[in-house]
Amino acid sequence: MKKALVAGAGGFIGSHLVKKLKQEGYWVRGVDIKKCEFSDSAADEFLVLDLRNEDNCRKALTLSAGLFDEVYQLAADMGGMGFIHSAECEIMRNSALININMIYNAASIGIKRYFFSSSACVYRDMDFGEPELKEEDAYPAFPDNEYGWEKLYAERMALAFARKYKMTVRIARFQNCYGPEGTWDGGREKAPAAICRKVAKAKDGGTIEIWGDGTAIRSYTYIDDMIDGIYRLMQSEIDCPVNIGSPEYVSVKELVEAVSLAAGKKVLIKSIDGPVGVQSRNFSNKKIYSLGWKAKFSLREGIKITYDWVKKQVDAAK
Ligand code: NAD
Repeated sequence: MKKALVAGAGGFIGSHLVKKLKQEGYWVRGVDIKKCEFSDSAADEFLVLDLRNEDNCRKALTLSAGLFDEVYQLAADMGGMGFIHSAECEIMRNSALININMIYNAASIGIKRYFFSSSACVYRDMDFGEPELKEEDAYPAFPDNEYGWEKLYAERMALAFARKYKMTVRIARFQNCYGPEGTWDGGREKAPAAICRKVAKAKDGGTIEIWGDGTAIRSYTYIDDMIDGIYRLMQSEIDCPVNIGSPEYVSVKELVEAVSLAAGKKVLIKSIDGPVGVQSRNFSNKKIYSLGWKAKFSLREGIKITYDWVKKQVDAAK
């Protein structure tokens, strides 16, 4: 039986990844600074550890006998645009410490296969309608925020360790990911969950506030598709960073429309000042497509499932 470690297993993508690995027949250890928020972890073993600390990384990575076949590093101090802009120092310090200590200890213990979750935030801002960027177009580097710079540094560190220690490293650059059991309030939530919450709380015909004028273009990837991409990439021979994201690009206004449709409500938008992030995105998926990956969920389908879940949380919190 293959053994996998998922760091960040108490979080959104990590907790779903644990479920997938269990379905694939792995023995799984999850590790996180906190337990899963919305359901019990599917992991065989779950350790609560602060991975900024080197000894804790070693503990997480060590088995009583043998080695983990695969290590998935998703732990990060992370959130939506509001968090990314208000917690630059925390993101740069905490996530860098986690990544430095995890890759160094994984390499020195002799781990053979290591996954790192990077982000589309490593890319520069784009103009509307600009042709798609390929993975190598992340250079010359000009990420829009410090979160992106930390990801770029961690990517380079993982690749340097791969070269020196002959470790197989797989790096995915995720676009926005959404779905049930993602953070939906408290300040770290991302746009899809935040809009679902606002619409769930709004009356039919009511108004919700959004940051900026609603024209910013993004792609949103449903969690099941993201997990499928992570797993395919980890099993693959692609040794450079790979974009994973739905090819359906929409404006924030269109995202609100998709949520309104799922809710069966009409809502009006009021634009307010706030951290919007980049204006536009458009990335090549050629590498991940070469592994047979395809986004199976349209935005409408994924948002419907997500809205119903967020609405339940909103109702339960009343
Ligand atoms: P998340 O915040 O739900 O999960 C990250 C987990 O890391 C959390 O459970 C958190 O408790 C844990 N963590 C933070 N500090 C820790 C520490 N010191 N020690 C141990 N654990 C710690 O975020 P997510 O959406 O599941 O993202 C997972 C990964 O994917 C992150 O690396 C993130 O940067 C990356 N990513 C996510 C998205 C997205 O849209 N969700 C997009 C691009 C990249």
